[in-house]
Amino acid sequence: MDVDQQQIGRALGEFVRDELAALPNLIAAAEARQLPVVGALEGYRQELSAIEREETQKRITFLAQEGLALKRRYEEVSRLRTGMTPENLERVSRAASVLANVWPALRQAAPSDDLEVAAGELQELLAAPDLFDRLHEMKSKSESIHAAYEAVLSDAHMRRNEVYEVAVDRVLGDERLPQLALNDREALLGPLQSRVCGTFTLELGETVCGSCQSSLQLIESEIAAVSQYEATARRRIAELTDREQRPTKVIRAADHFSVVETVEDVERGVDSLRDELLKSLDEGNRTIVE
Ligand SMILES: [Zn+2]
Repeated sequence: MDVDQQQIGRALGEFVRDELAALPNLIAAAEARQLPVVGALEGYRQELSAIEREETQKRITFLAQEGLALKRRYEEVSRLRTGMTPENLERVSRAASVLANVWPALRQAAPSDDLEVAAGELQELLAAPDLFDRLHEMKSKSESIHAAYEAVLSDAHMRRNEVYEVAVDRVLGDERLPQLALNDREALLGPLQSRVCGTFTLELGETVCGSCQSSLQLIESEIAAVSQYEATARRRIAELTDREQRPTKVIRAADHFSVVETVEDVERGVDSLRDELLKSLDEGNRTIVE
């Protein structure tokens, strides 16, 4: 082996070591997101490991025979390495979430042939080994699905606001309400008021409002339930005002017992007290026993 060959062998050895050192992180990032490039990266890693195990002479022979193919794979992986920035990985994750989460919700709520096609194309893009070269396409497909879902969700979100605002106004207009303590008023209005969300936001890939965390399904079921929530609030007002308006009667326990000396004395006193308590209940009183 001449000096040139030794130098080539050493250079190849260094190249392989450097590449092998950098690969695990890249493979882990691709695996974590189930990217369609795991196989290519893994194949490259195995090829480099095989070269690393060989002696210098065999490495040089390999380089002579497979050098061009190795170079191509190196360039492919280098392009991936450049493409797999944290920002781009985030873009791919969001696009994948549009396909996995947003699209099924949209298809159920508002099916569309055009978007069916877009979803199919997005699926192909996400499975393409060159996905990082096609991020623009991926963005436009996922944004069109996102925009359609956003329109459906924000419309439902607005309708829920409307019906709950009306319900809150009606309960606030209840003439019995001012008789109640502030904390009672707040407590009974809470379930209605908490369903009004003033700030609708929806991130790409998300299916719920970023402010109130409501899904389309939840919003629709809450719209359907508004009259029940209002009825509950009204019932609570009735209960509380009833209690305020009822007359109060004080019953003195001592009046029912004189000197207690026998079991009969106990029973007579308890019976008499019970009778008076039940009578007071029948009369609709709030009864206080002293
Ligand atoms: Zn909201």
